[in-house]
Amino acid sequence: MPLSEILTHLGEERSQYYNSIAPPVIQTSNFAFDSPESFAEKISNEFEHHIYTRGNNPTVQILRKKIAALEKTEDALITSSGVAAVSIAITSQLSAGDHIICVSRPYDWTRKLIENILARFGVEFDFVDGTNLNSIRDAIKTNTKVIYLESPNSKTFEVQDLRGCVAICQQHKITSIIDNSHCSPIFQNPIDFGIDLVVHSGTKYLNGHSDVVLGVICGSEALIRPMFQREFMTFGPIISPLEASMVLRGLRTLDLRVRRSDATAMKIAQYLEKHPRVSKVYHPLLPSSSQYQLAKSQMSGNGGLVSVEIDARNTTEMNTFCSHLKKFLLGVSWGGYESLYIPFYPFYDRLDQNTPSVPFNFIRFYIGLEDFEYLKSDLKHALDSL
Ligand SMILES: *Cc1c(COP(=O)(O)O)cnc(C)c1O
Repeated sequence: MPLSEILTHLGEERSQYYNSIAPPVIQTSNFAFDSPESFAEKISNEFEHHIYTRGNNPTVQILRKKIAALEKTEDALITSSGVAAVSIAITSQLSAGDHIICVSRPYDWTRKLIENILARFGVEFDFVDGTNLNSIRDAIKTNTKVIYLESPNSKTFEVQDLRGCVAICQQHKITSIIDNSHCSPIFQNPIDFGIDLVVHSGTKYLNGHSDVVLGVICGSEALIRPMFQREFMTFGPIISPLEASMVLRGLRTLDLRVRRSDATAMKIAQYLEKHPRVSKVYHPLLPSSSQYQLAKSQMSGNGGLVSVEIDARNTTEMNTFCSHLKKFLLGVSWGGYESLYIPFYPFYDRLDQNTPSVPFNFIRFYIGLEDFEYLKSDLKHALDSL
């Protein structure tokens, strides 16, 4: 289905609400039934009917249809956060005694889910270098049920060979799950490679305005329907109808926003690569990236994330650099309109924190919707201060 159709019309049954262009916010917790018979019939199939907003809500349902279509899957679930989507997708596929293989350096809370919570319920796990198919293959055990990917991950952007991973999963009857937040559905559709379940932090590009936290899970009806009946209805991580309508508004410009960030971030990456005070640039679609060919074969763009190692001798110099950045806000998250950065040197030598997995001079930038020259001159100012 054309992207324009999905973003502008799909799921919007306007004749049901006065031909209103904008979808109504159906802010209700529950729905009434015409008769006791219809009550009994509908409640036996909560997946398809409107009974209670923890299950289905018409405003959320419009969003659900669009998200499923964006990832080319049969259905989708909308959750209250990206980590709720990750948690539900993973737990839905595992029982005590099963084994999960996860790429090293996944999103922090995904790692904590596996290490701290699933382990308590008797799930075994291994974190492996996802850039090497052999290390994935070597980690497979007879009880392996899930291979969890994040391609690229959101800090250092390691890419996994999705075709190769899917071949391994199919051979061993393992469910593949991927966190596709980094690329968004605009630049990568993992279903095209045969991945089973796709999750996103919708907080990032899908909403795109830094004002709603949500997640999505996309997959076949055969996977999504039982997940809805069991984990989704039991854990109950829903977004409100009002938030769904805000995300629908955000989605109207998904294509424009993600492409703008991507184009500006590519120019910023090229600028940084040439600057003498930058020692390394992380961007999977720069020809200098060691994974350039693989990345190019599965992603049509990278989005707004770019990381660097600054040519700084010590944390004082890092501090000088950061204090000269005026247009980038220091903050977590990404995918909104505003450019952001996260330095890692403040976490070094702190007793209450683990030493980061990246060097002290590492900084992750998110390039938002601002103009290239505007952002470049801010970076230049900070780099030239060194
Ligand atoms: C932000 C993020 C998450 C978690 O999403 P929330 O919406 O914050 O719960 C998961 N995966 C990746 C790659 C992320 O960047």
